[in-house]
Amino acid sequence: MALTENQERMKSKEAFLQACTYIPGGVNSPVRAFGGVDVDPLFIERGEGSKIYDIDGNEYIDFVCSWGPLILGHTHPKVVAAVKAAAERGMSFGAPTLAETQLAEKVISAFDSIEKVRMINSGTEAVMTAIRLARAYTGRDYIIKMVGCYHGHSDALLVSAGSGLAEQSIPSSAGVPTAFAEKTIALPYNDSAAVEAAFDKHKDRIAAVLVEPIAANMGLVVPKSGYLKSLRQLCDNNGAVLVFDEVISGFRVALGGAQEFFGIQADITCLGKIIGGGLPVGAVGGRAEIMDLLAPLGPVYQAGTLSGNPLAMAAAIATLDVLAERICYRRLEQAGRTLQEGFEEASRKTGIPVTVNRAGSILSCFFTEGPIENFQDVQHSNIGRFKKFFSGMLNQGIYLAPSAFETMFVSLAHSEKDLEKTTESVYNVFRELAG
Ligand SMILES: *Cc1c(COP(=O)(O)O)cnc(C)c1O
Repeated sequence: MALTENQERMKSKEAFLQACTYIPGGVNSPVRAFGGVDVDPLFIERGEGSKIYDIDGNEYIDFVCSWGPLILGHTHPKVVAAVKAAAERGMSFGAPTLAETQLAEKVISAFDSIEKVRMINSGTEAVMTAIRLARAYTGRDYIIKMVGCYHGHSDALLVSAGSGLAEQSIPSSAGVPTAFAEKTIALPYNDSAAVEAAFDKHKDRIAAVLVEPIAANMGLVVPKSGYLKSLRQLCDNNGAVLVFDEVISGFRVALGGAQEFFGIQADITCLGKIIGGGLPVGAVGGRAEIMDLLAPLGPVYQAGTLSGNPLAMAAAIATLDVLAERICYRRLEQAGRTLQEGFEEASRKTGIPVTVNRAGSILSCFFTEGPIENFQDVQHSNIGRFKKFFSGMLNQGIYLAPSAFETMFVSLAHSEKDLEKTTESVYNVFRELAG
């Protein structure tokens, strides 16, 4: 298939070269460099609904959605209007505003397990604070995390941390003293026997079990039936805090996140991505008894100059208001299922083996036979095939996450027509791959 000059994306190529002169790797977050797919990254000019437009003037159906936050799609009129109105009243005060209480109320009413919540600026900060709280609350040091789960880029959690790191074969990260990572125990996902064994080995020294209840940073890996419940029980039996990192799953699989979806309650919940509606917001919430350990009430320090920023609060409130109509989640589930069926049908017709993992509107197509239940299984995925698939889809006008270890996010802005075009493209590209 001959590409037109626009499809060769000459302006993006040039822009990337220039960016590399001034910015390490040309990007402000590593996955954006497209290192996993041998393609130059696109420079985006604007987005609208389900579409983004690059600086060469190409249109794409966007399934990255800013890596999850844009569950309403780009430039949703209610979100844009709320942010504009907030900007006109002032960008930031470093003093309390009514919007912060409003958003806190909404989060608390969405999550049964959250009695108090604090807003911060990113998912990374949410998890940092959750861990500090869990350690202070229990008076213990060790934390358990699962291999392939990502919890942001703080020192102690850059241990076996999935996607962005998975492809660079960096076991953790340079610049992290071993002593900082020493208190982090990394165990395979979906393996509650391993967690039980760790509790036996480190009796009374484990502060928290930290997990993505729906793992979405090694591609999508869903919890096996009973897994989350057993983590809940092990924490209860051993006096440890159960921390759910719902930065992706929160407001995504249900308004009340994976906790509502599976009917399991965490002690501390980390939120991010969707809660900011496209602006930088994170949140950490949980039982009042734990949350009240935070300064100024308690001895656990945590702060932020721009935390609870008025523009971010406005975007968040507008986004959650739209999502409060529960019909949204039925539509998202339906859209996710349509895509899953598209992949599976293309696989049957072309003989390309795939495993599609899905939870509502998050899904991953792994190029290998399943089941895929942990990071080790994910490694069997055929990366060479994924790279060809990614380029093929991009040339058909479908923008996917540029890594075999990331997921697709469907938004409420994706129309039937978008989904139809996408499944057609999947079939076309699978045929090329098989041919
Ligand atoms: C994205 C992500 C984070 C980090 O959030 P940032 O806002 O990028 O700091 C933490 N946990 C999970 C599960 C994530 O997907």
